[in-house]
Amino acid sequence: MRQALRPEILKRLPYGLPPEERFWMKVQLGATDECWLWISPQVSFDGYGMFTISHHNDVYVHRYAYELLVEPIPAGLTIDHLCRKILCVNPAHMEPVTNSENLRRMWQWRKAQNPPIGILP
Ligand SMILES: [Zn+2]
Repeated sequence: MRQALRPEILKRLPYGLPPEERFWMKVQLGATDECWLWISPQVSFDGYGMFTISHHNDVYVHRYAYELLVEPIPAGLTIDHLCRKILCVNPAHMEPVTNSENLRRMWQWRKAQNPPIGILP
């Protein structure tokens, strides 16, 4: 039979902590205007940080941080990372927008990063 973990060891396991505490342990916090980067290897297939709140309850870390620190994200809206770093969880760098607005901004940003060849400034 497996021996039960002693209570003093259980208390030290991260899973004994409330989700909010476990969450911030995986964030590299900076000043209020800096990016706060998700440093856990838990990311989605498309590169977004993921966090397990509880069994079978995984969330995107930027949405979780926004809802923890600001307010619930209105239904149907996505989060635009104004700093363009998808692993950033600083709500000051986020804006809830519609999906089409988010895609429009991303397209604009990509165009600015890679101006078409042959077009002079
Ligand atoms: Zn940021």
